[in-house]
Formats: sequence, C-alpha cells, structure tokens
Amino acid sequence: MQPFPTRLLRWYDGCRRDLPWRRTRDPWAIWVSEVMLQQTRVEAVRAPYERFLARFPTPAAFAAASDDELLAAWRGLGYYRRARLLRDGARQVVTAHGGAVPGQRDELAELPGIGAYTLGAVASIAFGLPEVAIDGNVERVVARHRGLRESVETAAARRLLRTILEQWLPKKRPGDFNQALMELGATVCKPGTPDCANCPVASDCVARAEGLTTTLPVRKPPRAAVDVQARVVLVVDRGRALGHRLAAGEANAGQVELPGAGMLTSCEAADLANVLRERFGASAAVGPVLATVRHAITHHRITLQAHAATLRRPGSLQWFALDAATPWTTPSRKVFQGALDTDAPRQA
Ligand code: SF4
Repeated sequence: MQPFPTRLLRWYDGCRRDLPWRRTRDPWAIWVSEVMLQQTRVEAVRAPYERFLARFPTPAAFAAASDDELLAAWRGLGYYRRARLLRDGARQVVTAHGGAVPGQRDELAELPGIGAYTLGAVASIAFGLPEVAIDGNVERVVARHRGLRESVETAAARRLLRTILEQWLPKKRPGDFNQALMELGATVCKPGTPDCANCPVASDCVARAEGLTTTLPVRKPPRAAVDVQARVVLVVDRGRALGHRLAAGEANAGQVELPGAGMLTSCEAADLANVLRERFGASAAVGPVLATVRHAITHHRITLQAHAATLRRPGSLQWFALDAATPWTTPSRKVFQGALDTDAPRQA
C-alpha cells in the first residue's frame, strides 16, 4: 500500500475543485481566502472574495480602509471581527514589512489575526513552508482515519492530531497536502455519513474498518437552540431610516441596527416604547407589525418583528441612508426586504 500522502495527493490532483484562491500563489490573496473560509461555506465566499480583492488588491489598500468600507467589503460573510483583525494584520504588514506579506514563519505568526490555522495555511500554500493547517475538516479526516476515540477538543487529542499530520506532511508539497486533506473532508469524508466508497485512503481507515464512521470525531454536543422574539421599529423618512450604530465591544460593532431591545433580547410589543425611551431617550408611538423575519446568530433562533412607529423625539437615534453604502446589519436588511421590498433601497 502506498503511503497516506501519496494516495491523498494523487486523488487531489485528479479531483480538486477549481476555486479562485487555488489559482494564485499571492500570499495576500491566500490570506484573505483563508480568513473568509473560516466559519463560512466555499460557495458563500466565491463572490465576496473576488469583490474584496478587486477593491483591496494589496495589504496597503486594505490597511487604509475606513470602518464603513471594511463593513461593506465584508458584507454577506458575517463574523466581522475577522475583517477587523485582517485589517490590523494588513496595517502591520505595511508598517513592519514594507507592504509585503512576510515569508518567514515567525514573522507571519506575529501578525494580528494570524492564528495557528491561518499561519499553517498561508505558510504552506503561499510559501511552501512545512507547516500543517488543522481546521474542522482536517480534524474529522484524521480522527476517523486513525480511529481517535477521545474528544478532538482535548489538548491531548490536538497534540496527537498535530503529531500525526507532521509525520504525514510531505516536504515537497505541504500546501497541496493541507488543501487535499481539507478537500477530502469537505467533499468525501463529510460530517454525518462519509462517502467511504470513493475515498482514496479507505483501505487502512480505522473508522471504516470498525464501523465508527458516524460516531467519530467525538465532540461536545452543540448548545441547545434558544428562541428569541426580538422587536424593532421601522421609521422611514425621505430615503432614510432611524437607527443606531453598534458601539465598540458589541457584536457587529460599527454596523447600524434598527432600534429595539437588541437582537438577542426577547421583547413584548407593549414594552417596545419603554425600551426605546430607556435605551435611546427616544419617544415613539408604536404601531402594528410591518414585517416578520427570521435570523440565526450562533445558537439563537431569532424571530424579528418590525413595527411601524410615529416618532415624537429621536433621543440618541439617528437617520441613516437606506442605501448599500450604509452598513446596516443583516437582520435590518431582511426587514427592509420584507417591509419595503428591497434590501438596499436607493435614496428617493
Ligand atoms: S474511509 Fe470513510 S471515514 Fe475513512 S477517511 Fe475515508 S471517507 Fe473518511
């Protein structure tokens, strides 16, 4: 039997998906793609990736981006903290490395936003350095193939995974090896039921031999879902809507949200006027529901109702343009779609 890396790379050479970030060795483009791909599906990344690199083709271009430009460029991807860290990293590339992403492992590791996974991916794919990159797909493949019965979330299991991968990592094609493992996890050794019949490394897979493919990898059970009934008011005037900007330290900081008790806080319709007064010093007569939309944030399942309202005093609330340039939150845009039949209306 050929070694694991040989079988895996042969399969990868024949089956790899043609993805935009696989057509480049530009370390900035690869860094951007790896950050976007964390917690986001490949298909959801394609369009934002192309758009982002057209707007910010170099670290220097992104380093100079304003908060609103950053939020607009990251729209559709969520988890905006990743974008802020990427900008911090780009700024350090400009100040400490003359604008070129450094090709040394230790210099890469010092950049803000580069954790163990991103370091391994950028170092191996862009620079051919012998670094492993361990994401959820890789964990799953190795845990199944080696029959790892303890939780992959323990420190001991993580060390063992890393040791196994470092032994497998080929000197000549470390970047392709890392990508091949991720590809196998994404397309064959998938969560749930893997497609073992089409797996290039099935012949010595412990999970397959011992009937453990659906029980490995072992992970903590996910948190139970929490239902939230959130409410906001939708007050529109001359192509603008009343909103408030989320402060630093809050989730989605810098984005603009329709006013209410917050997305993670349930609120009765009768309490909404009091919430607006206490939170924003605003006074409004709250009317009927204009739109009901659904949204999920981590384990929260949110039903969001947007009420009509007549404004008497705005308090700290402000008017924001109903256009694509204003960084409205995704739930707010869903409300615009439901109530106004557009998610990025132009000013009247
Ligand atoms: S044989 Fe099945 S469980 Fe084992 S690595 Fe391949 S797809 Fe995964």
